[in-house]
Amino acid sequence: GARIHLENLTKIYPGNPTPAVDNVNLEVKAGEIVIFVGPSGCGKSTCLKMINRLIEPTHGRIRIGDEDVTDMDPVKLRRKVGYAIQASGLFPHMTVAQNIGLVPKMIGWSKSRVRNRVEEMLDLVGLDPREFHGRYPRQLSGGQQQRVGVARALAADPPVLLMDEPFGAVDPITRDHLQDELIRLQHELHKTICFVTHDFDEAIKLGDRIAVLREQSHIAQFDTPEAILTN
Ligand code: ADP
Ligand code: ADP
Repeated sequence: GARIHLENLTKIYPGNPTPAVDNVNLEVKAGEIVIFVGPSGCGKSTCLKMINRLIEPTHGRIRIGDEDVTDMDPVKLRRKVGYAIQASGLFPHMTVAQNIGLVPKMIGWSKSRVRNRVEEMLDLVGLDPREFHGRYPRQLSGGQQQRVGVARALAADPPVLLMDEPFGAVDPITRDHLQDELIRLQHELHKTICFVTHDFDEAIKLGDRIAVLREQSHIAQFDTPEAILTN
């Protein structure tokens, strides 16, 4: 993993003078899972989208490792950052293999390297490559779609993973299972992870540290689950 550093990060959307994210300063250590927990509309997704360069910050800087990535070319950023969202994030007209291979292909990996990597990623998230490779997202259960979403985010082996309610669309039992798998994966891969949820139990279970956010992503608390539970 690589350290992520947000400095005075602010987003004001056009047509709304109240910042969605107001002057956030936060450091995620290399290899750490930080959970962003807070009510709907407090700016969690906006923070992740800025880190992933899906939207431009109004002010502030973003550093990954020692590099300022605030103005980095998005394709180049894909080597550093993987992004997983709810199941709907899969492209419906692409097979599982095409979805997972998308970023590696985009950053110029050879066909055979992409093919091998897709198999490896399917194994990693517990889906048999022979069975799932050629399926379309609609031919998968919710839990399987989430697994493919995680596999896609990991495919180009980025040091940083951004996960925006990645298990939000699955039933509680599958969610519990996927949470356990994420913990297992993290022990193997040591990614630096920013994980957004509004589920406090999920935050406690998965977080090395938890950022409790209020409106405009103001940080009310930033501490370990143990410390937050005793406060
Ligand atoms: P969360 O992820 O915590 O639910 P969001 O980051 O999605 O919050 O939204 C933060 C705030 O910014 C909300 O008030 C939301 O209505 C507003 N917002 C989000 N996206 C846009 C947009 N594209 N244009 C204008 N306002 C937006
Ligand atoms: P949307 O905002 O409509 O979900 P985006 O422009 O955010 O679409 O992204 C297009 C697709 O590419 C999304 O489904 C998203 O999950 C995927 N994607 C975006 N960034 C990354 C990334 N860093 N790694 C892997 N997949 C990504």
